[in-house]
Amino acid sequence: MAGSDRVQYHDAPKQSDLDRCVHCGLCLNACPTYRELGVEMDSPRGRIYQMVQVATGAAEIGESYKEHIDLCLACRACETACPSGVQYGRLVEAARAEIEEKSPPPPLARFLRSAVFEYLLPSKMNLRVVGFLLHFYRISKLQALVRGSGILKLMGNLGKAEALAPEPESPSFFRWYGKVLPAIGEKKHRVAFLGGCMANIFFARLNEATVRVLQANGCEVSIPNDQTCCGALHVHAGLREPARKLARQNIDALLGGNYDAIITNAAGCGSTLKEYDELLEEDPEYAEKAVQFKKLMKDVTEFLTSIELNPAMGKVNGLVTYQDSCHLAHGQKIRSAPRTLLRAVPGLVFREMPMSDLCCGSAGIYNIVQNDMSMAILETKMGHVNVVNPDIIVTANPGCMLQLRAGAKLHGRGQRVAHVVEILDEAYKNYH
Ligand code: SF4
Ligand code: SF4
Repeated sequence: MAGSDRVQYHDAPKQSDLDRCVHCGLCLNACPTYRELGVEMDSPRGRIYQMVQVATGAAEIGESYKEHIDLCLACRACETACPSGVQYGRLVEAARAEIEEKSPPPPLARFLRSAVFEYLLPSKMNLRVVGFLLHFYRISKLQALVRGSGILKLMGNLGKAEALAPEPESPSFFRWYGKVLPAIGEKKHRVAFLGGCMANIFFARLNEATVRVLQANGCEVSIPNDQTCCGALHVHAGLREPARKLARQNIDALLGGNYDAIITNAAGCGSTLKEYDELLEEDPEYAEKAVQFKKLMKDVTEFLTSIELNPAMGKVNGLVTYQDSCHLAHGQKIRSAPRTLLRAVPGLVFREMPMSDLCCGSAGIYNIVQNDMSMAILETKMGHVNVVNPDIIVTANPGCMLQLRAGAKLHGRGQRVAHVVEILDEAYKNYH
């Protein structure tokens, strides 16, 4: 580890990546912020132009540059649309890392961020404590008191976070850490499951459902105790060095386990986990290990469609539509797997919504730090959902689930929002 710590990274958009853009503009209509604002500087082409200006020294990293880069969702829809193979995700992450290094936020913001990114997300104990405190906040009269006092309106992003925060689920998924769950029936595969960070508290039942579905499909499922947060939120915020530390810990915890696959149910995490090779490409000790790790990483939908799916499912009735999670569709290029799984469930009627791969506005903590834009994008998304008027809105990422739940309340008819594996879990339970 000491050797890895001595690697000096200077993250910034690479000239070879910037040079790929021929400024054709074919990505503009795929970009949610450009669609909302119609402003070139808030389009992929405009943002790349600004990165080039900074890279060549024609412009400095100023407030305007930061605002346009910050308003990007890093949804990578522009990558899918681009005929020149511009790897926009790499560019925006590197641009944010460069901003972080050369023009860091003020001390208080740095302190708060460090508390969340370095002391909360990677720590099982701190996550548990926060989950407990949030649970107490909700069941006591404190929440009603705070909401009634109007103080949240004065608290800016923290107030918005309170309104969007999900219910902590008790008991947390951490109690499954260190366990090995047997396959149901014949053991055909040996997999490891990554529980995430906050998902262990806020999506504990989803994580349990994922493990059950894997077991029902002949998997022995290990939940290694030494795993940690994947670092996706860190990477998206430009905090690549703390992300590298987490990547090394996950590689150490999982690579030697002789697993057939390492599984995640969070598209946002999966995208970063599959890019550990890029994150650690200059690390002499971990570069090759990261390549091996990437080969084993699978989204749960990708894995389930790569094996023979257990067909012993009962009915789940209803009209369902699917929202592509950006980091599954654009980041990992996985579109058909979740649809194939949904179509395999008896009783479900599947119908596509228009523009299912347009971002819902969730994007990690974007819905908190860029709340106005996020809510505008969500309203547009719900317009597309409402064309189908489904009973269930299904997606493949916990963050998207939260955002769509808010959307269903605000602009839909409060319908159910579920992950693909929750539907499968229900179908297996309904089998007689
Ligand atoms: S990112 Fe791709 S699609 Fe967009 S302007 Fe550049 S070359 Fe064209
Ligand atoms: S990542 Fe998404 S929001 Fe950012 S420029 Fe590309 S399409 Fe627009």
